[in-house]
Order: sequence, then structure tokens, then C-alpha cells
Amino acid sequence: MSELYARTVAELSQELRAGSVSSVELTRLFLARTQQYQSELNAFITISADSALEQAARADERLRAGTAGPLTGVPIAHKDIFCTRGEKTSCGSRMLANFISPYDATVVERLRAAGAVMIGKTNMDEFAMGSSNENSFFGPVRNPWDLTRVPGGSSGGSAAAVAARLVPAATGTDTGGSIRQPAALCGVTGIKPTYGRVSRYGMIAFASSLDQGGVLAIDAEDAALLLAAMAGFDQRDSTSVELPVPPLHATLEQPLKGVKIGLLKEFFDEGLDRGIEQCIQTGLSVLQAQGAVVREVSLPNLPLSVPTYYVVAPAECSSNLARFDGVRYGYRCEQPLDLLDLYQRTRSEGFGAEVKRRIMVGTYVLSAGYYDAYYLRAQRVRALISADFERAFHEVDVLLGPTTPTTAFELGAKTSDPVTMYLNDIYTIGANLAGLPAMSIPCGFVDGLPAGMQLIGPHFSEASLLNIAHRYQRETDWHLRLPSRFT
Ligand code: GLN
Repeated sequence: MSELYARTVAELSQELRAGSVSSVELTRLFLARTQQYQSELNAFITISADSALEQAARADERLRAGTAGPLTGVPIAHKDIFCTRGEKTSCGSRMLANFISPYDATVVERLRAAGAVMIGKTNMDEFAMGSSNENSFFGPVRNPWDLTRVPGGSSGGSAAAVAARLVPAATGTDTGGSIRQPAALCGVTGIKPTYGRVSRYGMIAFASSLDQGGVLAIDAEDAALLLAAMAGFDQRDSTSVELPVPPLHATLEQPLKGVKIGLLKEFFDEGLDRGIEQCIQTGLSVLQAQGAVVREVSLPNLPLSVPTYYVVAPAECSSNLARFDGVRYGYRCEQPLDLLDLYQRTRSEGFGAEVKRRIMVGTYVLSAGYYDAYYLRAQRVRALISADFERAFHEVDVLLGPTTPTTAFELGAKTSDPVTMYLNDIYTIGANLAGLPAMSIPCGFVDGLPAGMQLIGPHFSEASLLNIAHRYQRETDWHLRLPSRFT
């Protein structure tokens, strides 16, 4: 058996119920690791030691009373985009660096009710805008596999925390790839559910028609456990879907015989690292050996995902971020001369460069005279991309390809060229534009750095994705590898 800190949520849950370890002991263990590696990784914005130990003590009472669920007493972390009552919720921004949330996001509330112990809030790109975690007001996160490299973004803190086993699982959000891309670059499992599956209430908005909360974990089984607790209808989010969540855990073991996998032709382009391509091909053969059948599928409009996203997402962000004006909450500039000066200086000082860039692009594409040429056209292309996916799902059950074109790059390598940075999400954005569930699972290493395999399914097919991922992970151990520095 591996060290306690390297165990999955499912394994820790068993230990807790068997009474071989208490939640307070586990929480102390993970808090100690989090504190020990904070200066190296910078994976956390807030470490909540006192409240975590209180939650753990309550979890131990539930465990003793026999009223515990599968997550009771298990330490986790939340991306700092989810509002947590009584605690700082910064969204990686100076704008909210002093914001103490008066309420819990639905995701936080549900995991709290399930008895999970929150040990802290993870670092992230400012307002979830980024692919490298270099846009955080709180400094960059480092990749546990190579401290000179980025962990991916924007959920880079959560991905690094799970990869280094500072927590066994963490929440994240994915607007254009921010769960899957860092999961791939850090060698962990990530799931972005169908748009509407997980409530966005209390999840600070970036691009509301794309944002979706999800999970970063060691394996698919743990992702299923957390997602089952988070997902489901919430009347406080008007885009939350009123559909029952199937028992995600119950179908993990289903055989893969006859499952039709579509290999996404457009993802195997000249930009894809040959080493990653090799890992995907090997991964595919593991699924074929279990009876899955593979055929190539083409989605001709998919290459338009990046330009489409970089019109739609900034447009929505420019509208969403208008609320940060120094009047109601968050940062306020010193001694404003008048109201206009208050707005201008608060926003100039409170937002970082990437956020300002997006607000400007968004305002531009929505302005009279440009709306039709940019925003409306992007919405039309978005519909074409969705239709491509729909057609593909008449032929196959799931689509498969790489998560990212390359493995983790050096810190600073792409910060001077935003477009190069945006191209990291070339394989992930399509699923967001179409609102589809998608996963990234570890599928090998290229020069010592993790590679991720992506699965994309039809709407509300989370159970099938988790099933395929779980069957794959029973045959492989990529997801169990740990960077030696953290063992
Ligand atoms: N990297 C993309 C962006 O910068 C996606 C971010 C996300 O999914 N939150 O917008």
C-alpha cells in the first residue's frame, strides 16, 4: 500500500470508515504537505488550517455516529473562484484580494454538506483567464514535475496541488479548457461536465455561456465521487439543468466491448507534439484491447474554435466584469477625485494586463458597428461547431484525441505573445463552445513530462466518460505516478 498522502479519495474514505485514521489526522497530514511545499509550488492563495481542523473534527463525529458519506472527512481544496463563506475569495485578482464572501457557492455548499474538509483555496489565473497560471495577482504556480515549467491554467493551483498530493482532489472551472489543460500538463485526471450540470451559483463569472465547474483528481473513480456530490439542479442558477444525475459510481466498471470511439482527425495536426501523439496511439490500443472499436471522425469547423472563443469569451467577460467598479465590494482606489476617477483608477489598478486586454476586445466586438461582423458571426460559427459535434455523435459514442498540443512549457516562454498562449487551448475549446462534457486522463510521459488524453462525449454523458476513463486506468498506472520531489 502506498503512503497515506498518495492514496485516492476512495481509499482514504475506506480508511476513515474503518477507523484506521481520523479526519483530523488526515487533515493535519495534508495541511503539513500544503504548507511545506507552498514556497516551491505557490499552489494555494489561502490555507485555512483552523477552519479545516474544525471541519475535520465534525467529520470525525459523523464517522463515529455512522452518518458519514463517501466524502466525509476527506481533505480537498477549492479553486479560488468559488465563493467560500467567511473566507477570502480572490479569483486570483487584486480586485478581490480583500473580498470575504458572505456566502458559499453551491459547489462549496454541497461538498461541505457531504462532509469534505476544505483545507484551502487554490491559485489560479486572474478571473480564470489564462493557460499557464502566470496571470495570477498572487504569482505563478509551478509544475510539480519540473519547477521551471508552468502547470497550465487557469486551474493550475488545483492541478499542481493534486499532482504533488497536497490534496487528493480539488475543484476547478473550465471555460475553454481550464480543467483539462492543467490536468494534462500536471498528470492528473480532470472532468469538465456538460454545461448546466454543475451550478454556477457563487462561481465568479468569466464567460457565463461557457463556464462550468468540475473536478481535478487522481483518477476517474474519485472524479465520479466528487462530481456526484457537486452536480445536479440548483434553482439559484437559471442555466442549471433540471435532470437527475445518474449514479456515476455505479457504471464505472461497465465493459467497453462495442463502444465506438471516434478519433478526432482535426486534433492530429502539424501542431501536435509527436511524443504526445505516440502516447495517444498507445492509449487507444489499451481501449481497443477491451473491445472498443475505433474509427476516424472529421469535424470540419472545429479548427475555427480558437478565433470563435476569443470573440465570445471576451465579449461575455467585458459584460461580467463591469460589476467590479470600486463601489460595492473589492478593491477601491485611494482618494478618488470624483465618480469617474473612482471607476477608472479602481479598474486600472485592480485588474491585470490580460484581464484588461480581454475587456477591451470584448467591448470592441460588442460595440455598434462591429457587433454583426464579430460577435454575431462568432455565434453563427459556434452553432456550426455544435452541429459538427452532433453529427459525429450519430456515428460514435465518444470522441478521443490529445488534450494539449505540447507538454508543459517553461515559465515565461509564452507571456509576451498572447496569441501563442491562446493556441494552447486549440483542442479543448470546442467542447465548451458546444457545452459538451469532456475529460483529460494521464496517458504517458514525453521527456519526463505528463501527456493527457482527451475524451469528449454527448451532452450529459459524464457516466460514459468516467466509465471509459476508469477502465483505461485499471490497465495503466500513469495516473498513479508521482513526481519524485514530492514522495
Ligand atoms: N485558457 C483559456 C482562456 O484563457 C481558457 C480559460 C478557462 O477555461 N477558464 O480563456
